[in-house]
Amino acid sequence: MTRILLSPPDVGDAERSMLIRAFDSGWIAPVGPDVDAFERELATSTGTAHAAALASGTAGLHLALQLSGVGAGDEVLCSTLTFAATANAVVYRGARPVFVDSARDTWQLDADLLAEDLADRARLGRLPAAVIVVDLYGQCADYDRIGRACAEYDVPLIEDAAEALGATYRGRAAGSLADIGVLSFNGNKIITTSGGGALLADDTGLVERVRFLATQARDPAPHYEHSEVGYNYRLSNLLAAVGRAQLLGLADKVSARRLINRRYREGLDDLPGVEFMPEADYGIPTCWLTCLTIDADALGVTREDVRVALAAADIEARPVWKPMHLQPVFAGDGVVGGAVAERLFADGLCLPSGSTLSKADQDWVIEVVRGCAR
Ligand SMILES: *Cc1c(COP(=O)(O)O)cnc(C)c1O
Repeated sequence: MTRILLSPPDVGDAERSMLIRAFDSGWIAPVGPDVDAFERELATSTGTAHAAALASGTAGLHLALQLSGVGAGDEVLCSTLTFAATANAVVYRGARPVFVDSARDTWQLDADLLAEDLADRARLGRLPAAVIVVDLYGQCADYDRIGRACAEYDVPLIEDAAEALGATYRGRAAGSLADIGVLSFNGNKIITTSGGGALLADDTGLVERVRFLATQARDPAPHYEHSEVGYNYRLSNLLAAVGRAQLLGLADKVSARRLINRRYREGLDDLPGVEFMPEADYGIPTCWLTCLTIDADALGVTREDVRVALAAADIEARPVWKPMHLQPVFAGDGVVGGAVAERLFADGLCLPSGSTLSKADQDWVIEVVRGCAR
């Protein structure tokens, strides 16, 4: 038996041959025809005007905050239930995150809480420099309401769609739902370039500036001329070729994860005290990871009991993200609400959900979970 992983890469012959073709073309640098084509294909796939291919999703978040005007001493409202990269990027700008709780009915950022907080801040003259919202576990947040609240106070909105490529919100694609969207192609995401990311926006000048900053901010001159600080954040042409092959399989990868989600529901829904992350009626999530909560009183075992039993069976499962406002590194930063995210962290478990997960392996995961409950 080999270990069953949470979300391993799903790559094959198409990726291999695109990679070798790019290698043989001689474009080995972080520039080339596959980078250009991958950007066009990402823009088309997400219904945005432009995409900039980058070295990571984290690089995309960093530049998104910079291009939103976030700088030293600013505050940025940020989903508390997310991966640390979302909040780290705020700190890279010398700004401070203020965390916002999830809504119980979708696990996504609580749009009412955000609207109230923005109204309070407007009265005090303390509006944040930006709002950054995560599409948690591949489900979109409620962007109509979040977008309206941000627009009312003219606060830039960033969508961290790292887990959500292929998801929709009211028919629109994840990544296209805010002023700037960010994707990740890390090894565990919906599609992968082994490591990589992208920034999406409709604003032509903004995306051109992202490409400029991501290539060391080189001014046009025959020598190396720099009038501002840049970054080495572009995606390699070789990895862009892998990304192009992955993108061709995007719909299949999302269907596979959604089917896995449905099978977990069918296999575990009858257990007392087990509740899956609810699917909002406003869109279609990628089901990047299938997550559930365990009410220990009702099931008779805790989330940790189940996780440890899975680990003993060589199955990787993980607690839901530890909220950022509970992380030692962000201990001094503010939080709006927080109790919902704390509850989800205490009771929530993510199950193996990769698009390569076989039915037999999934049946085994379900059997081990059911075994804990008996
Ligand atoms: C993976 C992830 C990131 C970071 O992406 P990288 O490409 O690994 O830098 C950011 N935000 C969220 C929510 C993620 O899941």
